[in-house]
Amino acid sequence: VLILAIETSCDETSVAIVKDGCEVLSNIISSQIETHRAFGGVVPEVASRKHVEVITLVIEEALSTAGIRPQELTAVAVTQGPGLVGALLVGVVAAKSLALAWGKPLIGTHHIAGHIYANRLVRELKYPNMTLVVSGGHTELVHMEREGEFRIIGRTRDDAVGEAYDKVARALGFPYPGGPHVDRLAHEAEEAFVLPRVWLEPGSYDFSFSGLKSAVLNAVNQSKMKGLTPDVAGIARGFQESVVEVLVEKAVRAVREYNAGQLLLCGGVAANRGLREALIRRCGAEGIELIIPPPVYCTDNAAMIGAAAYVKWRHEGGIPLDMVADPGFSLEKWSVTAY
Ligand code: ATP
Ligand code: MG
Ligand code: FE
Repeated sequence: VLILAIETSCDETSVAIVKDGCEVLSNIISSQIETHRAFGGVVPEVASRKHVEVITLVIEEALSTAGIRPQELTAVAVTQGPGLVGALLVGVVAAKSLALAWGKPLIGTHHIAGHIYANRLVRELKYPNMTLVVSGGHTELVHMEREGEFRIIGRTRDDAVGEAYDKVARALGFPYPGGPHVDRLAHEAEEAFVLPRVWLEPGSYDFSFSGLKSAVLNAVNQSKMKGLTPDVAGIARGFQESVVEVLVEKAVRAVREYNAGQLLLCGGVAANRGLREALIRRCGAEGIELIIPPPVYCTDNAAMIGAAAYVKWRHEGGIPLDMVADPGFSLEKWSVTAY
């Protein structure tokens, strides 16, 4: 099964050719980060225009790199949501046009299912499993009882981890996207500035990062008011330690409670060294099988969309061409039901 997958939910225009949901023949990514940096974040209208500019080229490059002719494809997949509506629309329209022109089925795909199935590009998955999703817009613990059957057992009640990283980075004086800067500083710090851990109610798998973010802002402002230079590295390390401790603890508890055979990690924050190191150490000590995709499959890419689309395709086939982009697309509702 050869799937051409398109991803345009945010600020990466990406097209991939994926074989049998696990073998990446090509994965072309055109990032707009440089364009958006000047604005301190992603500007939706600018993102849509950029997608329109490059989508055709990226599709052509994905086909030529893979050495695949359109007739050889089984289906065309596209991120249907969630994401920025204007950005999603560019990918959806492109996918529909190709499906129609080439006479191929269309597979609408969920963006977070894509992030999760990035793990399938690394290794065969075992079920039931547990995924810790840590991206720019999502922080969730997702349980899969069977292939393609998603249940969100915990989610953030306010900011996503990546969002908190970006806001903290900005307060510490670093440009968008700030996550990597905070990560680097955290490793350079001699000592951690002590910040709270937010556990919420006992037993809860939910997260909250906005209080922590406020604590960082307060620490920065208090130093400034005293005429001191804030201990930027110490604060970064304190912030990272707090985030990582809570994420790791809840993920490991979820693995135990749900008898998960594997813990999967995904999303852009999976590139975080502190989080990776802590998870590797903890899962190693507890005998939990852990998968962490390489960085290129952690941030937005179309290969992961091809991997998730394959699962949907095998169980349910394609969907009608009148499907629409859905900025609030639900992961649980996208679950495979036809077993
Ligand atoms: P979503 O998938 O929820 O729509 P997104 O796809 O835009 O969000 P990603 O591309 O998965 O988000 O991740 C981007 C986020 O990852 C940014 O917030 C960025 O700061 C963060 N990030 C990247 N590298 C690191 C790192 N080393 N440490 C912490 N955060 C990081
Ligand atoms: Mg992005
Ligand atoms: Fe994403």
